[in-house]
Amino acid sequence: MNYKDVLLTLKRLNLKPKKHLGQNFLTDKNIVRKVITTSEISREEIILEIGPGLGALTEFLVEKVKKIYAVEIDPKLSRYLSEVFSIYNNIEVINGDILEVSLPKHDKVISNLPYTITGPILEKVFFKENPPSGILTIEKSIGNRIFLSEDYKDFSRISVTLNAFMKPISKSNIPRNSFYPIPKIDLLLIKIIPHESLNPFLVDINSRNYFLKFIAGIMPYKGKNIANALFFYYKAIKNNYYTKDIILQILSRSGYENKRVSTFNNDEIIEISRLFYL
Ligand code: SAM
Repeated sequence: MNYKDVLLTLKRLNLKPKKHLGQNFLTDKNIVRKVITTSEISREEIILEIGPGLGALTEFLVEKVKKIYAVEIDPKLSRYLSEVFSIYNNIEVINGDILEVSLPKHDKVISNLPYTITGPILEKVFFKENPPSGILTIEKSIGNRIFLSEDYKDFSRISVTLNAFMKPISKSNIPRNSFYPIPKIDLLLIKIIPHESLNPFLVDINSRNYFLKFIAGIMPYKGKNIANALFFYYKAIKNNYYTKDIILQILSRSGYENKRVSTFNNDEIIEISRLFYL
């Protein structure tokens, strides 16, 4: 699909791009090629495409993989895609919200993500045991935070949680004007793969959910020392067991001195959440 194809198809479908659904359609074939090359797909793979839109990536993927599940929330686009790809028997277009549908088994996720729901999508698709790998176009500021620097200056909820499950391996800029309409944010194409082995604390669903809540809860205090951050967090969720004394006891017993939250590395933060898991 080039710029002209996108405009014509939208007109034919009587469809105006919906901002709240992050509908920006890829119009640059070079970027399509870049996404496909970065994906390193093989014939044996099952792909989950989130938000196929007008099928700019889908038309290439369908020729190259074993099976694609393409989940699109917009019923008009889903109908259109089902028609266009009806000659293929290796694609299933699912009309639904990616955050609601139950996900079929897949090896890789390829998506120019609907930018408005990046966090919830990452959580649903990747924060679990045996996650798929992902090739994703996402908002640049989020993408950059995912690639933790040595000094941890980008330490944030998304960087800690994503790095707990996935290893970011490459990133490259995507020009905004590769899309119609041109988005208001800068974009990055990132590739993430699962860790060889997941931290055992994140395998069980209950401790995993505890960890995700714990990180969300202490991140507002990431500039404070860990004892204070934990004290404020447990106070906010009305957990009376963790008094300042108990928090200090647990931290000092385990050798975690009173450092600022943002100076711990990922493994240490997971370990601290484990120590406070009841
Ligand atoms: N892949 C297409 C492309 O590159 O041209 C479209 C990408 S556009 C950035 C995001 C797509 O995600 C849109 O087609 C939009 O309708 C769809 N979308 C938005 N929210 C969604 C959701 N919750 N579940 C599934 N699809 C969604």
